Amino acid sequence: MEDCIFCKIAAKEIPSRPVYEDELVYAFYDLDPQAPTHFLVISKQHIASALDLTDEHAALVGHIYAVIAQIARQLGFDSYRVVTNCGESAGQSVFHLHFHVLAGRDMAWPPG
Ligand code: 5GP
Ligand code: ZN
Repeated sequence: MEDCIFCKIAAKEIPSRPVYEDELVYAFYDLDPQAPTHFLVISKQHIASALDLTDEHAALVGHIYAVIAQIARQLGFDSYRVVTNCGESAGQSVFHLHFHVLAGRDMAWPPG
Protein backbone atom coordinates (compact mmCIF):
# COMPACT_ATOMS: atom_id res chain seq x y z
CA MET A 1 0.00 0.00 0.00
CA GLU A 2 1.28 3.45 -0.92
CA ASP A 3 2.41 5.66 1.95
CA CYS A 4 2.50 2.78 4.45
CA ILE A 5 5.83 2.74 6.26
CA PHE A 6 5.68 -0.99 7.03
CA CYS A 7 4.80 -1.88 3.41
CA LYS A 8 7.90 0.12 2.45
CA ILE A 9 9.99 -1.70 5.06
CA ALA A 10 8.70 -5.09 3.80
CA ALA A 11 9.59 -4.03 0.24
CA LYS A 12 13.08 -2.90 1.45
CA GLU A 13 12.38 0.65 0.27
CA ILE A 14 13.12 1.73 3.85
CA PRO A 15 16.08 0.00 5.56
CA SER A 16 15.59 -2.11 8.69
CA ARG A 17 17.54 -4.66 10.73
CA PRO A 18 16.13 -8.03 9.70
CA VAL A 19 15.37 -10.89 12.09
CA TYR A 20 13.47 -13.29 9.84
CA GLU A 21 11.70 -13.37 6.48
CA ASP A 22 9.56 -15.73 4.44
CA GLU A 23 6.90 -15.37 1.76
CA LEU A 24 4.23 -14.29 4.25
CA VAL A 25 5.98 -12.31 6.97
CA TYR A 26 8.96 -10.07 7.73
CA ALA A 27 10.47 -9.58 11.19
CA PHE A 28 12.82 -6.68 12.02
CA TYR A 29 14.12 -4.87 15.09
CA ASP A 30 12.08 -1.95 16.40
CA LEU A 31 13.65 1.49 15.96
CA ASP A 32 12.72 2.46 19.54
CA PRO A 33 13.23 -0.71 21.62
CA GLN A 34 11.20 -1.09 24.81
CA ALA A 35 13.13 -4.15 26.03
CA PRO A 36 16.67 -5.51 25.53
CA THR A 37 15.22 -7.46 22.59
CA HIS A 38 12.30 -5.86 20.75
CA PHE A 39 11.40 -6.83 17.21
CA LEU A 40 8.27 -6.55 15.10
CA VAL A 41 6.66 -9.23 12.97
CA ILE A 42 4.56 -7.88 10.10
CA SER A 43 2.45 -9.54 7.45
CA LYS A 44 3.70 -8.75 3.95
CA GLN A 45 0.06 -8.27 3.00
CA HIS A 46 -1.21 -4.84 4.06
CA ILE A 47 -3.79 -5.31 6.82
CA ALA A 48 -4.46 -2.04 8.65
CA SER A 49 -5.05 -3.47 12.12
CA ALA A 50 -6.15 -6.51 14.12
CA LEU A 51 -9.67 -5.13 13.84
CA ASP A 52 -9.63 -6.13 10.15
CA LEU A 53 -8.81 -9.78 10.81
CA THR A 54 -11.34 -12.45 9.80
CA ASP A 55 -11.31 -16.24 9.73
CA GLU A 56 -9.63 -15.92 6.32
CA HIS A 57 -6.49 -14.77 8.14
CA ALA A 58 -6.44 -17.72 10.58
CA ALA A 59 -3.54 -19.48 8.83
CA LEU A 60 -1.53 -16.23 8.59
CA VAL A 61 -1.95 -15.38 12.28
CA GLY A 62 -1.13 -18.97 13.29
CA HIS A 63 1.97 -18.80 11.12
CA ILE A 64 3.04 -15.53 12.75
CA TYR A 65 2.90 -17.12 16.22
CA ALA A 66 4.82 -20.17 14.97
CA VAL A 67 7.47 -17.87 13.47
CA ILE A 68 7.73 -15.95 16.75
CA ALA A 69 8.26 -19.21 18.67
CA GLN A 70 10.91 -20.31 16.17
CA ILE A 71 12.77 -17.00 16.46
CA ALA A 72 12.52 -17.13 20.27
CA ARG A 73 14.05 -20.62 20.32
CA GLN A 74 16.84 -19.48 17.99
CA LEU A 75 17.58 -16.41 20.13
CA GLY A 76 17.42 -18.53 23.29
CA PHE A 77 14.32 -17.00 24.92
CA ASP A 78 11.89 -19.13 26.91
CA SER A 79 10.05 -16.03 28.11
CA TYR A 80 8.73 -13.24 25.94
CA ARG A 81 5.71 -11.02 25.41
CA VAL A 82 3.75 -10.57 22.17
CA VAL A 83 1.75 -7.34 21.87
CA THR A 84 -0.55 -6.05 19.16
CA ASN A 85 -1.85 -2.54 19.79
CA CYS A 86 -5.16 -2.18 17.98
CA GLY A 87 -6.49 1.34 17.50
CA GLU A 88 -5.10 4.73 18.53
CA SER A 89 -6.32 4.57 22.15
CA ALA A 90 -4.55 1.24 22.55
CA GLY A 91 -1.30 2.80 21.33
CA GLN A 92 -1.29 1.81 17.66
CA SER A 93 0.77 4.35 15.70
CA VAL A 94 1.45 2.41 12.49
CA PHE A 95 -1.65 1.13 10.74
CA HIS A 96 -0.18 -2.02 9.24
CA LEU A 97 -0.74 -5.17 11.31
CA HIS A 98 2.28 -5.95 13.47
CA PHE A 99 3.21 -8.01 16.48
CA HIS A 100 5.71 -6.59 18.97
CA VAL A 101 7.94 -9.26 20.50
CA LEU A 102 9.64 -8.13 23.72
CA ALA A 103 12.16 -10.15 25.69
CA GLY A 104 15.19 -9.91 27.93
CA ARG A 105 13.65 -8.27 30.99
CA ASP A 106 10.89 -8.93 33.53
CA MET A 107 7.50 -7.67 32.32
CA ALA A 108 4.91 -5.91 34.45
CA TRP A 109 1.23 -6.82 34.45
CA PRO A 110 -1.17 -5.26 33.64
CA PRO A 111 0.47 -3.32 30.80
CA GLY A 112 -0.19 0.42 30.93
P1 5GP B 1 2.62 0.69 17.39
O1 5GP B 1 2.84 2.01 18.08
O2 5GP B 1 1.81 0.88 16.12
O3 5GP B 1 2.09 -0.40 18.25
O4 5GP B 1 4.05 0.18 16.97
C1 5GP B 1 4.79 0.78 15.94
C2 5GP B 1 6.23 0.48 16.23
O5 5GP B 1 6.96 0.71 15.03
C3 5GP B 1 6.86 1.38 17.28
O6 5GP B 1 7.38 0.58 18.33
C4 5GP B 1 7.95 2.13 16.54
O7 5GP B 1 9.12 2.31 17.31
C5 5GP B 1 8.20 1.25 15.35
N1 5GP B 1 8.64 1.96 14.16
C6 5GP B 1 8.05 3.05 13.60
N2 5GP B 1 8.70 3.42 12.49
C7 5GP B 1 9.73 2.53 12.33
C8 5GP B 1 10.76 2.39 11.35
O8 5GP B 1 10.87 3.15 10.39
N3 5GP B 1 11.63 1.36 11.53
C9 5GP B 1 11.54 0.49 12.59
N4 5GP B 1 12.45 -0.49 12.66
N5 5GP B 1 10.57 0.59 13.52
C10 5GP B 1 9.68 1.60 13.40
ZN1 ZN C 1 1.19 -1.54 4.87
